[in-house]
Amino acid sequence: MLPPVKKDRIISQLPKCFSPNAALHTKDSFHPQVKAVCQVQKASAVSFNIAKVIVVGDVAVGKTCLISRFRKGVFDKNYKATIGVDFEMERFEVLGVPFSLQLWDTAGQERFKCIASTYYRGAQAIVVVFDLSSIGSLAHARQWLEDAMKENDPSSVLLFLVGTKKDLSTPEQLSQVEQEAIRLSEEIKAEYWAVSAKSGDGVKDFFFRVASLTFEANVLSELEKGGSRDVSDIIRLTDNTDLSRKPAAKKSNCC
Ligand code: GDP
Ligand code: MG
Repeated sequence: MLPPVKKDRIISQLPKCFSPNAALHTKDSFHPQVKAVCQVQKASAVSFNIAKVIVVGDVAVGKTCLISRFRKGVFDKNYKATIGVDFEMERFEVLGVPFSLQLWDTAGQERFKCIASTYYRGAQAIVVVFDLSSIGSLAHARQWLEDAMKENDPSSVLLFLVGTKKDLSTPEQLSQVEQEAIRLSEEIKAEYWAVSAKSGDGVKDFFFRVASLTFEANVLSELEKGGSRDVSDIIRLTDNTDLSRKPAAKKSNCC
């Protein structure tokens, strides 16, 4: 039996997007069908659902700090390059239903790209991270996205383009980079966010948005597949052994 979800991981309303110009959608509440299903589901409280989220981007753009700021609530200054791929589970409650994000942190180094592709598979969300203070990292975002998409079905994956290190830029610099980033987001149909792991600005809102949109997409996709199935089956009871287990070769030195 899992312990209860932490109070600060409870999502009862759809979080707002960062920029309406670059959002996956701009509705202000969860889909009515999703709400209705969760209303029923809450009563049994046994459901457990999960979404795999992969975080990609150039080395040192701030992927690991972003995840650790959200998970631990602090900025981890002790820079340590991520080796290979690692993942962490983060538990939420969305509309009263337990839901987990499996956050996969990948190394940005070229030499890890070959093992990383194995871990890209089956993602519900791809988070492409770039450094707001380095326009070059934004230029590489498209390539990261293409690599991650090779292993996934474009119709069922949600894309997020996240600029980090917002604290390092002046408002003028920020608005310049943001113009480019929003243009790219529109083109690749990603939702754009600007955050800072150092100050914490936007980090929780961003992950809440990822949790909410992946949750909503999962429930809607189950509804579509399920047709007239009993509503209690709709949010799967998942023990997902292969998903919730850490990979055996977690810290491999690659190929
Ligand atoms: P990764 O290789 O993408 O996982 O990058 P890391 O998360 O390891 O961060 C790389 C470097 O950027 C580290 O020195 C961090 O301290 C720094 N860093 C990460 N996020 C931020 C941020 O939001 N603001 C600032 N100023 N530095 C950051
Ligand atoms: Mg890292």
